[in-house]
Amino acid sequence: LGIVDLPVDPFAVAAFEGRRLRLKEHDLGDRFDGQLEYHPAPRCFVLLLNTKYDKETPGHRHPRTRFSLGHELGHYHLDAHRAYLMGGGKWHGSRGEFESDRNTEFEADAFAAALLMPRRFVSPIVNQGELTVARIEQIAQTCGTSRVSAAIRAVELSDFPCALVAVRAGRVAYRSQSECFAPAGCYPERQRWSPTARRAWEAFAAGGRLPEAKEAQIKDWFQTYDDPHDVDSVYVTEQYFAAPQMQTLLVLLTMDESDLRRGARDDEDLD
Ligand SMILES: [Zn+2]
Repeated sequence: LGIVDLPVDPFAVAAFEGRRLRLKEHDLGDRFDGQLEYHPAPRCFVLLLNTKYDKETPGHRHPRTRFSLGHELGHYHLDAHRAYLMGGGKWHGSRGEFESDRNTEFEADAFAAALLMPRRFVSPIVNQGELTVARIEQIAQTCGTSRVSAAIRAVELSDFPCALVAVRAGRVAYRSQSECFAPAGCYPERQRWSPTARRAWEAFAAGGRLPEAKEAQIKDWFQTYDDPHDVDSVYVTEQYFAAPQMQTLLVLLTMDESDLRRGARDDEDLD
């Protein structure tokens, strides 16, 4: 598609489809963020895009508008989604980013994230070093996305051990991790989260200030099996940041790569 620089322009990507895809932009209030329909008579897709968020960012598109368009382009480009729509299937309007449990919605979100944050450009930024909230901010700014989407994509592309956990309504709503954990014998368990993160959630829910970074242990977050390296006692750093418009607290987990690989037994040798 000739994408050469950031931020990617999803409107140009949509326009590339010409008459096969008609984009209709309106302030749709709270109805939905985006919706894609197939119209058999003119044989085209109609993409309805809610532009209400753009009022907050005069002169340019709001990250959420960009993401919604990317999401609907996912429904358009992913074969199974397109086949469903062309067969007369209807989708409810999409809403939010990575908020739905439905698999098809998650696939469209992943498409949007990959479109707006291409691996080729974003992976070198992510892998400058261990992931930090500051670097997630930088990616969000550069790519014109929300911090939530930038965080999810960054963790996905990171070569370092890191994980992202989103807490909503006092429960873990979403979590993902880089690929380093399974080889170390650590497996995510959805509702396993640390006491320090629970306190951060309570502060967030009460409208208070988020704590600074805290330390916890890997077993506070992961199930560990058949543990030849005693990874249970590896320390993880928790960094908290908020997505208030989604009523979500995000916890970024990072840890020392060599700790995860060697485990605590070797740490004793270092003392
Ligand atoms: Zn959708």
